[in-house]
Amino acid sequence: MKRRDIIKGLSLLPLSGGVMGGILASESVFAEPPAPNRDLFKELGVRTFINARGTITAMSGSLMHDYVLDAINDSSKDFCMMEELQDKVGEKIAAMVHSEAALVSAGAFSALMLGMAGILTGSDLKKVAQLPQLEGTGMKSEVIIQRGHQIDYNHAFLNCGAKLVYVETPEDVDKAVNEKTASMHFLGSGAPNGKIMHEEWIALANKHNLPTSIDIAANIPPVSNLWKFNEMGFSFVALSGGKAIRGPQSAGVLMGKKDIIAAACLNSSPHSGTIGRGMKVNKEEILGMYVALERYISQDHDKEWKDWEDRVARIAKAAESVSGVKTETYVPPIADHTPTLNISWDTGKVKFSGDDLLMKLRKGNPSIEAYGGGKNSITVSPWMMRPEQVKIVAARIKEELLKASA
Ligand SMILES: *Cc1c(COP(=O)(O)O)cnc(C)c1O
Repeated sequence: MKRRDIIKGLSLLPLSGGVMGGILASESVFAEPPAPNRDLFKELGVRTFINARGTITAMSGSLMHDYVLDAINDSSKDFCMMEELQDKVGEKIAAMVHSEAALVSAGAFSALMLGMAGILTGSDLKKVAQLPQLEGTGMKSEVIIQRGHQIDYNHAFLNCGAKLVYVETPEDVDKAVNEKTASMHFLGSGAPNGKIMHEEWIALANKHNLPTSIDIAANIPPVSNLWKFNEMGFSFVALSGGKAIRGPQSAGVLMGKKDIIAAACLNSSPHSGTIGRGMKVNKEEILGMYVALERYISQDHDKEWKDWEDRVARIAKAAESVSGVKTETYVPPIADHTPTLNISWDTGKVKFSGDDLLMKLRKGNPSIEAYGGGKNSITVSPWMMRPEQVKIVAARIKEELLKASA
């Protein structure tokens, strides 16, 4: 019986407790058998592919671990009070990442926005209701940031009504600080594009009695970055849940000082008249994020790293078996810090471009997304592949390189 039919049937029955009780107990809509296995991507004509690219949001980020999916499924059967859940999970996460407090957010972008909102409003509910309006409210409005840390994700601050003030040197910071300055923001674990490094940034902020924030969305691994910047003294830290940690793609963590996290909660769902209401995280994803983080921290990171190295080596070996092909393994120094492979060739021997190879991989079956491209090379990042996909990628790359050599 289809769900629709059951509901239609129910509406025709007299509302006697006996009949209702009988139907609901034996054949309730909740007990409806699952639909037969559907391949929804196929039905919709949506291309799926082997991810040889990394944790890219537009490419659906990462694949959740089974234990995350189990947590999502298991927790979907009961109701709870959202604030109670946020508080209890927040406490556990804070202990794991060595911060005073934490909140599961709708991704790192949302963490940046909620943390900023918390700094701007504090616990003042009138101010919470006024965001993103800052003028005439008594709220501060400027965030100081190094010019080299300019990235699109900083739009999170603009969403709060704040303005970014760019600096390059410590002297610039001293000059930029004024009565409107709300905070000082920093990008990333390594941030080679700035002249001022983390500790000095915090010291400058302390001198001016300003809170600090940092975006480490893509800076895991290493796992130690989960707590490094909390311990260093940043007022809040934004983390992506759907990258290396392989939690829900639309979850992240805001961690930091107790008062800022508490104020961020006031600016967030389930509170309706707030800037954060549209960045709701459901109970399943809050718990999925919690479990993902817990398991990520306790996993064998050396073993995972060796597995990634092994993947790179297998693909490199297949590619290099073609005459005129060279490979180079490297680890991007900061973001997506995992073993990565560059494959290049002598176009006198292998007669196509990197872009050609990328297109052939994309159009093949199964479809594969690598990157780089250009004249005579591509880049392959194997950490987001499912284990059995490594040999497929190795074989497909070799096959196309050979074909182009003929
Ligand atoms: C991915 C990323 C974000 C956004 O993270 P989400 O979890 O997708 O919101 C922010 N900042 C940086 C540097 C990132 O790499």
